[in-house]
Amino acid sequence: MRGIVLRGAIFAGILVGWAGTALAQEPQLAFTWDDLPAHSALAANTTRVEIGRKIVAAMKAGGLPPAYGFVNGVQLEHEPLSEPMLREWRAAGFPLGNHAYTHMNLNQRSLEDWEADVLKNEPVLEKYAAGSDWHWMRYPYLAEGNTAEKSAGARKFLLAHGYKVADVTMSFGDYMYNEPYARCVAKNDAASIAKLEESYLKMADAQIDYSRAAAKATWGREIPYVLLMHVGAMDAEMLPRLIDLYKKHGFTFVTLQEAEKDPAYAADLDLSLPEPVRKPSGPLPPYPREDFDVNGVCK
Ligand SMILES: [Zn+2]
Repeated sequence: MRGIVLRGAIFAGILVGWAGTALAQEPQLAFTWDDLPAHSALAANTTRVEIGRKIVAAMKAGGLPPAYGFVNGVQLEHEPLSEPMLREWRAAGFPLGNHAYTHMNLNQRSLEDWEADVLKNEPVLEKYAAGSDWHWMRYPYLAEGNTAEKSAGARKFLLAHGYKVADVTMSFGDYMYNEPYARCVAKNDAASIAKLEESYLKMADAQIDYSRAAAKATWGREIPYVLLMHVGAMDAEMLPRLIDLYKKHGFTFVTLQEAEKDPAYAADLDLSLPEPVRKPSGPLPPYPREDFDVNGVCK
């Protein structure tokens, strides 16, 4: 692993030294979507099915490749009307992956309970994603185990069941905006919605710089990033503008599989490897934080 990181750093140095920045590779980004078919409060101006349609349409209009959607089967019990969202996602050529049946937090529950929750989700994936590569795990809350034993146990379990891990290397807190947005829609408060929209794009923008700096501090180079998104009402509304933001920063778009071919993700693809330790070699910039209370909007 160390050898791979070093080679990457040297290669990046040679590229820049030899040809200047003109040959520097464009940064790459893989969108991934969590909490299908229903995430957070539903704004009164839309439906779960419409949210899925808007996301797929914006991705296709932007020329982006198909993106994984990570499923919590329990939502089909909570909101049966959301069911066509899964079928339409697959029909559009977008893959599905496992996000555990009830979105169970591995750090708060036993490994046995968590494994059962992952397995309980499999019939849903077999039904909606038959014949496709759905053995990708997105840990709920990105919680990979609060003890070394649990983390290793989860990896062993996932390996035995044929999974790869869908990592996250860029995330700007998009999920925080969906509840305030639903409240503002209910109040028809356009000024507050505009403020949320401005903040959403500001945080996405700030996170680009943070993630790129973190990659350079950790791997000594740019990596293809895996972006965590959620299928919320505001996310669907903002997606065309968000895609434009990434394009403005020079990003090109790849699938999750393409991104995770990078050696930085080796331990996500081969779960027999030790759990990855990501140790930045230098100081990280401050983590971007919004300076106003997003959660307090439209209360
Ligand atoms: Zn989730």
